[in-house]
Amino acid sequence: MADKKSIPRVDLPDGLHIDTLAVREGLPRTQWGENSEALFLTSSFVSPDAATAAARFANEEEAFIYSRFTNPTVTMFERRLAALEGTEACIATSSGMAAILLTAMALLKAGDHVICSRSVFGTTITLLGREFAKFGVETTFVSQTDVAQWRAAVRPTTKLLFAESPTNPLTEVCDIRALADVAHTAGALLAVDNCFCTPTLQRPMAYGADLIIHSGTKYLDGQGRVVAGAVCGGEQLINDKFVPVMRSAGMTLSSFNAWVVLKGLETLSIRMQAQSARALKLASWLEQQPQIERVFYPGLTSHPQHALAMAQQSGRGGAVLSFVVQPRAPGDAAAARLSAFHVIDSTRVCSITANLGDTKTTITHPASTSHGRLSEEQRQAAGITQGLVRVSVGLDDVDDLKTDLLRGLHSL
Ligand SMILES: *Cc1c(COP(=O)(O)O)cnc(C)c1O
Repeated sequence: MADKKSIPRVDLPDGLHIDTLAVREGLPRTQWGENSEALFLTSSFVSPDAATAAARFANEEEAFIYSRFTNPTVTMFERRLAALEGTEACIATSSGMAAILLTAMALLKAGDHVICSRSVFGTTITLLGREFAKFGVETTFVSQTDVAQWRAAVRPTTKLLFAESPTNPLTEVCDIRALADVAHTAGALLAVDNCFCTPTLQRPMAYGADLIIHSGTKYLDGQGRVVAGAVCGGEQLINDKFVPVMRSAGMTLSSFNAWVVLKGLETLSIRMQAQSARALKLASWLEQQPQIERVFYPGLTSHPQHALAMAQQSGRGGAVLSFVVQPRAPGDAAAARLSAFHVIDSTRVCSITANLGDTKTTITHPASTSHGRLSEEQRQAAGITQGLVRVSVGLDDVDDLKTDLLRGLHSL
């Protein structure tokens, strides 16, 4: 959580690069000299005497007190992720949604206004549009790509702009710098959900974002083991606004899950590069298949924001792509859905699950899973058609993935 200055730092030379920080940043070793980071499975911490306990509770002395507030393993994860994102501070949360909940609780009160892309993660739309509406926070949902809509939505009460790039499942890319300008002109903050790129491909802070949201469940863990989240940002903002809410609301990351994600960060960079390279190969190949109408992937030159994506994402497209299959019988949505289901059901390697960011390639039908609760009209507006299939490319061999998808495509 908010960095405690008197809690010592790892003794590292200045100027280290991101890959080194990913395996080294954290807390100093304990007196036992462990090389792998220690897992502190403890709910509370002992004080030497009552007066020290009192000083610690009064915030006069910085120390670990209770694991709802802080825990050494969680602090290690926070320091490491902050180092990767290039932010001063980070606060870990029990899930990605808890990170967004914490952000909204920390920054908003009744009467405040939020502007959010209408293409963000569906549950984010529900959280802001439905749950926070109950408490008098109003959210305007706007186009992911049309900055003029964001500018036009600004009100005197606008406190937060919320974006995600690229989005799920259509991989739409927003211009982070342009949105940061809109936010700052309005006296508001910009939060960017960086789940799909991770700091190894995209550092939103470099484009002016104030807060970076993570679902650690996805690439940060990267092996589909735990649910986790985090918010990265400036030290004062995190300390003054986020830490008090965490202490009283308690959406704390467990130390065990923090340890898993902390170790996941060590391989994040090579996983993102390898998975992005595989995704580009697969997307280029899919584009040539006659049974496929359209492929969505920022690394393809056919992607409408290809140039922006390459500039903003270190020249990589990330590892999520989606495609629309030709309907088995032309025309209607039901036929398109049958085709999509056939391709998904014909795979024998890909995992049929809506999760993403795993080393195991996953395949899903957004219209009936992640976006299944939307009305058909809302889905049409969002471009989530019945023929759409999403693939989160893992570390499986690309040739095996091609064979896996061809099985269904050939027999359409
Ligand atoms: C999964 C996801 C979330 C929510 O994260 P959880 O860890 O499942 O709570 C938020 N944003 C994006 C972009 C996601 O993919």
